[in-house]
Amino acid sequence: MAVNGTGPYNPDNIFAKILRGDIPCKKVFENGWVLAFHDIAPKAPVHVIIIPKKPYVSFIDFSKNASADEIAAVMQSTGQIAADLKLEESGYRVITNAGQNAGQEVPHFHLHLLGGKALPPFPV
Ligand code: 5GP
Repeated sequence: MAVNGTGPYNPDNIFAKILRGDIPCKKVFENGWVLAFHDIAPKAPVHVIIIPKKPYVSFIDFSKNASADEIAAVMQSTGQIAADLKLEESGYRVITNAGQNAGQEVPHFHLHLLGGKALPPFPV
């Protein structure tokens, strides 16, 4: 069931557990600000989840409370991952789901990077 995109951060969410190393992930990229890993149930041949290491519930929480350096790090990392995965020529999609109406399941802000095939018309 989709989560409420507001409220306090829940440190028991699945991405927090991945960040702590409590559960494994297939890592794609990591730096001081960001971790990226393959989605466990990919919706396209390339489906990478990009997360800030610090705790934010949603896009609004991140945009309000992250530093400019951290916001830049998430954006630059996402672009670098898309380029490294050779998606630039074929095309790709970057989305975030926030709150119940968007179907957000994991209450730790994240971007989905999707590509590797012709994607269905937005929204996917
Ligand atoms: P949301 O619906 O919150 O935007 O997306 C959450 C995503 O996290 C889904 O695409 C789902 O497949 C993925 N996911 C959920 N649990 C895990 C997990 O344990 N490991 C990984 N790698 N991805 C997960």
